[in-house]
Amino acid sequence: MSPGAPASITAVIAAAGSGERLGAGGPKAFLPLAGRPMVGWSIEAFRAAGVASIVVAVPPGHADQLAAADVLGEGSGSGGGIGVSVVDGGATRSASVANALREVQTELVAIHDAARPLVTPELIEGVVTTLTADPEAAGAIAATPVTDTIKRAADQAGTGAADRANLCLSPVGGLKHRFVVEQTLDRGELWAAQTPQAFRVAALREALGADPAAVAAATDEAMLVEAAGGRVLIHPAPAENLKVTTPQDLRLAGQLLG
Ligand code: C5P
Repeated sequence: MSPGAPASITAVIAAAGSGERLGAGGPKAFLPLAGRPMVGWSIEAFRAAGVASIVVAVPPGHADQLAAADVLGEGSGSGGGIGVSVVDGGATRSASVANALREVQTELVAIHDAARPLVTPELIEGVVTTLTADPEAAGAIAATPVTDTIKRAADQAGTGAADRANLCLSPVGGLKHRFVVEQTLDRGELWAAQTPQAFRVAALREALGADPAAVAAATDEAMLVEAAGGRVLIHPAPAENLKVTTPQDLRLAGQLLG
C-alpha cells in the first residue's frame, strides 16, 4: 500500500471460473486481453498497490498455464518481490476463495475477480483504506451507484434458469421466456457490488464456515459476511471497473486497456 497506509494485506484473485457464459472454450481468466491473459491485469494492479502477497485460484490443471504466461512476475514463490502463489480453485466461487484463504497469513485480505481486469491500484487502496478507517467494520467493498431504474421480474414461461447476460445479445432471446415485472426498487439506495472486497480475515473465515448451501450459492463474499452479522462498508467505485461476462464485455475491456 502507499506510504502511510497501515495495511499488510494479501490479495486473493478468483480466477477458477469455467468461462462458460463467454463461450470461449476455456477458462475466462486466461483469455488474451490487450496483450496478456486477463488475470495478468489484476495481478499487476495488486502488485502496484503494494500488497504483501497474492494468491491466485485457478481451475485445477491450469497452474502451469499461469506460470508459462509470464504474468506472475519476478520474486514469485520465494525470494524478493511480491510472492504470487497459485492454488486450485473449487466447484464454486466461494470454494475457490476458501482454498486460497488457507494460504493467507495477514490479518486483512482483498478478494478480487479475475473477471474485473480494469481494477486500478487507486481503487484497491481506496477499498482497503475504507476498511481500516473503521475498526468496527468487517469488510469494505467496491460498489457503483445504480443509475438505471431496477425491476425485479419473474420468468412466467417457466423455462428454467435463463442465462440473462447472453439472452440480451439476441433480438429474440426473450421470446422463450416471459419476464413479468413484480417490483420496481428504489435506485436511490442501490449499489452494484464489484470487487475488490476487503475483509478482516477472521470475519471472512467465520463467514465461509456458515451453512454449506448458502456458502455455495454466494455470488460475493460480502453477502456471507453480512449474513454472519458483519458490518460491510461501501467504497464508491467507477462503473469502468466492469465485469467481463459476455463477448461484448471482452471487446470493451480490450478497448479500454489497449
Ligand atoms: O462466473 P463469474 O463471472 O460470476 O465469476 C466471478 C469470478 O469468480 C471470476 O473471476 C471466476 O474466475 C471466479 N470463479 C472461481 N471459481 C469458481 C467460479 C468462479 O474462482 N468455481
